[in-house]
Amino acid sequence: MQVSRRDFLRVSVGAGAGTAIGGMVGLGLPLAPARARAQELRIKDAKIVPSICPFCSVGCATLIHVKDEKIVNIEGDPRSPHNEGTLCPKGAAIYQLHMNPNRATKVLHRKPGASGWEIVELDWAMDRVAELIKETRDETFIESLPNGKLVNMTPGIFALGGATLDNEFNHVCQKFWRGLGVVAIENQARI
Ligand code: SF4
Repeated sequence: MQVSRRDFLRVSVGAGAGTAIGGMVGLGLPLAPARARAQELRIKDAKIVPSICPFCSVGCATLIHVKDEKIVNIEGDPRSPHNEGTLCPKGAAIYQLHMNPNRATKVLHRKPGASGWEIVELDWAMDRVAELIKETRDETFIESLPNGKLVNMTPGIFALGGATLDNEFNHVCQKFWRGLGVVAIENQARI
C-alpha cells in the first residue's frame, strides 16, 4: 500500500492521539513490524538476565533486559519448556513492578485518630509493627482449649498477603506466622 507523507500526517492527527502508531492504524497498515522494530531498538545491546515471574507457582521463565543499570524490558523466555516465551497478563506487567511512577517508595503512617498520613522511617515502622505483634500475641495467645486440648494459637492476628509477594516470600511468611501461632493466614497469590 502506497501512503504519502500527507496522508500519513492527516490520519495520524485524525487518530486523536496524534501518534505514528495511531496513523498506521488509521491507514490500515500492519502494526506488527513497527512494534517489532521498536522493541528491537529498546533492547538493542541490552544485557539479558534470565529470571522467573514471581507471581505464581507456574514459575514462568522471563528475560530481563538491562541497559545502563536500568531495566528496560521484561518478557517471556522462549527457551522455557512450560511457558515457551508467553506470560499471562499479570506476568506481562512485571516491568511495572520496577518502573512505575505510582509505586510507593516511602512508609506512610496514620496515627490513631489522625486524619492524615505522615512519612516515617522504615526502621521506626518495623519496630512499631514488631511491638504491636508482640503486644497482641501476648494478650490473645491461647495455649489450650477448655477441654485441655493443646492448640498454641494466636487468634488476635490475621495475616493477609498481597498479589505482588512472590512464592518464596509467602513460604517464609506463612512459616513465620504459624510460628507465632497465627491460624488466619490468607493470600491472593495463586499458590
Ligand atoms: S503469574 Fe502468569 S506469568 Fe507469572 S508465573 Fe503465573 S502464569 Fe506465569
